[in-house]
Amino acid sequence: MSMLRSALEEILAEDEAGLDDDGLEEEFAELDRGVEELSALRLRWLGSIERRGTYAEDGHLSITSWLAGRFRKTWSAASRLVRAARALEQMPATREALQEGEITSSAVDLLACAREVDPQAFAQAEDYLVQAATTLSIPDLGRVVGTWRRAAEDARGSEQAYERRRLHVSPTLSGMVRVDGDLDPETGQTVISALRAVCDAHVRSHTDHRSSPQRRADALGEICRQWLDGTDRPLVGAERPHVTITVDLQTLEGRLPPGSGAELEDVGPISSEAARRMACDASVSRVITKGASEPLDVGRRTQVVPSGIRRAVVVRDRGCRFPGCDRPQGWSEAHHVVHWAHGGDTALSNLVLLCRRHHRLVHHGFGLEMADGRPRFFRPDGSALEDGSSLEERGPP
Ligand SMILES: [Zn+2]
Ligand SMILES: [Zn+2]
Repeated sequence: MSMLRSALEEILAEDEAGLDDDGLEEEFAELDRGVEELSALRLRWLGSIERRGTYAEDGHLSITSWLAGRFRKTWSAASRLVRAARALEQMPATREALQEGEITSSAVDLLACAREVDPQAFAQAEDYLVQAATTLSIPDLGRVVGTWRRAAEDARGSEQAYERRRLHVSPTLSGMVRVDGDLDPETGQTVISALRAVCDAHVRSHTDHRSSPQRRADALGEICRQWLDGTDRPLVGAERPHVTITVDLQTLEGRLPPGSGAELEDVGPISSEAARRMACDASVSRVITKGASEPLDVGRRTQVVPSGIRRAVVVRDRGCRFPGCDRPQGWSEAHHVVHWAHGGDTALSNLVLLCRRHHRLVHHGFGLEMADGRPRFFRPDGSALEDGSSLEERGPP
């Protein structure tokens, strides 16, 4: 290993500023090849470590957890490596081509995915597919591999395809959540129909500036939220399933710099304004801590807006009160005009029903105040929005 170390040190000491344009590209090509070959070596050794089972000595239950913990990788990065290492163990021609630098790791990913369809059929076709990988561009290889996959799937029948259904939902380092998967035809159609129903309902009633992918993303959230809001949900750990957010009082009061102090259970930190918006209409339990994290006392979970008051708000507002919006109450949340963390009352005079999109707008830029028991909305520049629809024109609740 010291050879690798000293070779690396030599490369690292090289100053690319002294190279001309052609020289720099040549050196980069060399470097890229080196990285590919080292990656191949890493996968091979990872396979050996898994076979020997040494990771268990530190109490790790899987090689993925060893890799993630010991080398500080995200779980998804670690499991991708482990999957590739396992696949390569069973793909001798691919392994050899990778080691020889004839194919890239991107090509290996494509081949490994194809192998999952039918390992036996893949073994017979491996030479041919590797041959294609040495000559074709990645998009062209994708098409060849795709054609092979479909043929293999047809041969194995739809039951096998059904076995490969999967859905990954994972927080990413950028603070978003990545959704990725393959659904069987029936489930897929159900999802498409449900998303379309929510999107259509919105398009009919809104001038909508969102892109189609954005609309689908919002629709998925709406479907899940309405499911969670249902009162007949099974109990999990003696509670109805819900979204949990941990936030300190200072953040709720807006006394900390933006971006600090609020966390979602699985996804991690969120902005303090998002935390305030979510806390507008939620159940809250107070945890008193000593220092930063030692809990001294945990209070009962209570609803910020008790059901009686909520009913009164619904009777008065019937749906979202944002000018021009007609989302019904089932899609809406009760917004505190003066946030309760700032001492605002949870009373009819301080609550306004807003659909989730308009609730977001009001917390992030738009203004809202109560005048004579009626909400008045303002654009981010401070100018007033005219409410074209008077309450009386609305249909029954
Ligand atoms: Zn609010
Ligand atoms: Zn609305």
